[in-house]
Amino acid sequence: MTETSSTSTPAIKPCPKCGQPGAIRKAGSNRVWVQCAKYGKDGNCTAISRPEANKKDAITVWNKMK
Ligand SMILES: [Zn+2]
Repeated sequence: MTETSSTSTPAIKPCPKCGQPGAIRKAGSNRVWVQCAKYGKDGNCTAISRPEANKKDAITVWNKMK
């Protein structure tokens, strides 16, 4: 890796189910997750990660989903 910033977050991979972009969602101050841009009423995709305490962890979980 060539990242120089310690606060950078991983790039969000496309949805593992349909290939649409992943979208960050937040609830409160410490619940962050990634869901498909076409999740639920936005397009009927079911891809969603579990909530994590921060954006970086949420993206990491999402990027590992298959
Ligand atoms: Zn999707």
